[in-house]
Amino acid sequence: MANVKANKNQTAAERAQAAEILSGKLCTKCGKDIKLKELLNVKQMCFQSNQKSVMAYHRACYQV
Ligand SMILES: [Zn+2]
Repeated sequence: MANVKANKNQTAAERAQAAEILSGKLCTKCGKDIKLKELLNVKQMCFQSNQKSVMAYHRACYQV
């Protein structure tokens, strides 16, 4: 598995390749895998537990 962490010495091509890697998160809306370049983390308050949780969405899914 490639190192996903940001690297200042990365070339544009390497960055593009890294963006194709799956984030390992599932979209809250559509339930599908999210690639790193599509990942949008949304902090939401959970009123039941009174804690902040981070929901993951595709950028496209969250904008709808
Ligand atoms: Zn989605």
